[in-house]
Amino acid sequence: MASAALLERGAVVNRRLAEDPADRAEPVGRVDRVGRVAHLSLDDLAALRENLQEQRLFRQEQLQQIEAAPLTGDPAEQRAAALSEVRAKLTASARMVLHDVEAALRRMAEGGYGVCHLCRGPIDRDRLTVVPQARYCARCQQVRESRQ
Ligand SMILES: [Zn+2]
Repeated sequence: MASAALLERGAVVNRRLAEDPADRAEPVGRVDRVGRVAHLSLDDLAALRENLQEQRLFRQEQLQQIEAAPLTGDPAEQRAAALSEVRAKLTASARMVLHDVEAALRRMAEGGYGVCHLCRGPIDRDRLTVVPQARYCARCQQVRESRQ
């Protein structure tokens, strides 16, 4: 139903990526850039965008639920403290994912989606299917994690 609109927006993203003025200043990158865009088809982009939008909605609802959930009237201070710690952790992780998902949707709209932020290489389609908000290719992600 909405797929025609999604495809159309995907085409806009691809055109924007292909016409990025940064490419003209850097002719060596041109072929690379085309390759980077070409590794994701319009169908891929449409599916990934839908996935990101679903995740955004899910996290927004999750955050609303956490915030709306009444604190139990349990007077035991320890339990209340433990509960608020769990809530704080849940909130923090939901906000983090939501932030990443929104950033990925922005990259889809503005260009640069599916390109690794570190090595500027393409992020594997398979990786994006699992983690559509990924900023780094699998290799760079591993390097980052091993450093932490
Ligand atoms: Zn990389």
